[in-house]
Amino acid sequence: MKYNEKLHPGDRSLINRNLRYFVPEQVFDVHAHLYSTAHYPKGTLPWLEKVSALGLKQYESAMQMTLGREGIPGLFFGLPHRHGDRDKINDWLAEEVKNGGDSVNYALKLVSPTDDPRLVANDLQARKFIGIKVYHVYAERQDTMNASIPEYAPDWMWEILDQFHGVLMLHIVREGGIADDENIRELRRLCKMYPRVRVILAHIARSFNYRTAYRGLSQISDLDNVVVDTSAICESETFEEAIKTVGPARILWGSDFPVSELRGRCITTGDHFFWLHPEVLLDDLAGKVENTMTLVGIESLLALKEACENQGLRKSEVADIFYHNAVRWLTPDDTSSNRLPQGPGPKMWREGHPRRYSAVVKTRGNV
Ligand SMILES: [Zn+2]
Repeated sequence: MKYNEKLHPGDRSLINRNLRYFVPEQVFDVHAHLYSTAHYPKGTLPWLEKVSALGLKQYESAMQMTLGREGIPGLFFGLPHRHGDRDKINDWLAEEVKNGGDSVNYALKLVSPTDDPRLVANDLQARKFIGIKVYHVYAERQDTMNASIPEYAPDWMWEILDQFHGVLMLHIVREGGIADDENIRELRRLCKMYPRVRVILAHIARSFNYRTAYRGLSQISDLDNVVVDTSAICESETFEEAIKTVGPARILWGSDFPVSELRGRCITTGDHFFWLHPEVLLDDLAGKVENTMTLVGIESLLALKEACENQGLRKSEVADIFYHNAVRWLTPDDTSSNRLPQGPGPKMWREGHPRRYSAVVKTRGNV
């Protein structure tokens, strides 16, 4: 797969027909990576080999291209990789975000379990970063995709975040994602033990396979200090389940830039998911779909739009997903902005949409 800087006519047609009227005026992106090739050994990220740096400027032009919005504020962090130089990534990113023009942007620090907790605490105290981004590649094991949460987000990180009311961007792993018993148990334990940590479960709690959303989301939806982001999810079923179980007030839009600029989508297959890109297909097939597959970011927005329409969300709820939920979540001490509604997601959805709730109960037997 490769990073794209240009739209095809097919992309433009999808945007004009679907997204121009769906995406609200105000947008806040809670999940975007910035990148500089200088911080990784040569050849580390082949899909970005044609770009040298993806700073705020490149981010803004990509968002302008698909969303038609200028100066989108966001929550930014580096691209985690075992061989990346974390110190350089973090320092560069913090500078980039600080000098980022008129928008109010925030940064998360990429942190590994082996990092010095005192340095992490200092950076949070100085507001250089408002929280941390963890990732399974920093777990101390070979098969890091099987790591449980404390292996890459140990208790010391939660303690520090709890102290500073910090944000934790958490992309869980293990085959079952949010339907995995170990993930559910650890998430529940850590969220209850450290209630001031503001947890963002990336990719709707890693529900690339919508069946894991069906099985798992309702088991964590009562946790008050958890929200989910939409980044890179391309299955409308996942979004619909999130709307019903977590509630539209706890869903935050994220682009997952620069993943958003790849062609293809992530699909559910059996108990797994698969990243489908033109580049993973045999040559003659790849040539045929190169002009028809659209960008991951556009796929994700289309799936979100379909879910919002199918669930009958109001315009104001869509505006919450794209902007207000993020502002409330990232500035909890700002008493001038409305706080997130209290109470578990299912209750909020049930009370907000009583007729749709009873229809779902009839067809599915539960919610
Ligand atoms: Zn990401």
